Amino acid sequence: MKFDSDFHMHTTASDGHCTVAELVCAAKERGLKRIAVTDHSFSSIMCHQTLEKFEAQRAEIDAQEGVEALQGIEANIISEDGELDVPDEVIRRADVLIAGFHRFVTLMFESESRRFLLVNGFASERARQKLYDVNTSAYLKMIERYPVDIIAHIGHRCPADFVKIAEACAANDVYIEFNEKHILDTRGLDESIDDIVATGVKFTVGSDAHRANRVGKFDNVATFIKKHDIPLDRVYGIDGNVPTFKDRSGWKR
Ligand SMILES: [Zn+2]
Ligand SMILES: [Zn+2]
Repeated sequence: MKFDSDFHMHTTASDGHCTVAELVCAAKERGLKRIAVTDHSFSSIMCHQTLEKFEAQRAEIDAQEGVEALQGIEANIISEDGELDVPDEVIRRADVLIAGFHRFVTLMFESESRRFLLVNGFASERARQKLYDVNTSAYLKMIERYPVDIIAHIGHRCPADFVKIAEACAANDVYIEFNEKHILDTRGLDESIDDIVATGVKFTVGSDAHRANRVGKFDNVATFIKKHDIPLDRVYGIDGNVPTFKDRSGWKR
């Protein structure tokens, strides 16, 4: 199994420590063929993408050589209705749209969203159980509403029915990410991965690197793939499997 792509990483446009050029340099050193730069979206606290930074980053990415560099964004699911915090313009212009749950998102939304985010981030065991259905439904609504490409670190700090979500992903050409930072500590993933695979869903690989030296490193993902005997032709970003991302240029809400 050879990793040739990395579809999740951060730059100084959000909370990463490196420039696009530094990440590309690291990707080349690792022998990667393509990467996606996926900074945190607009409602992340403190460090997040803006329209101005997104524009400047596009020019920087287009200037890179030797690696296919895509410009993405890592969107936050911010409500029970599956709302994403990405302006329509950025949805249309991003080469890759990845989406997931995160803590530390600006609480500028209605009260339901506020409760939803806080409880997801810091839930007691009982609250986790209650949120299982709410979270699952938020994922499903998001997949219905938006032309999303990848579900980032599914289930990370967010209990949900992974199999139901995988069914929706398979039906809507959405990839599920194998995230190097979180794949081994996501509760319930080990138990449900066989059923997730059985839905026919495809997977991508993402290091979630915040520093150049993490780009293209997939020790945990490799361990997980081997442990669960995941069919390698279903994993995009290894062995020459190139994913197809959606054309959103004409997308309207
Ligand atoms: Zn994330
Ligand atoms: Zn990330």
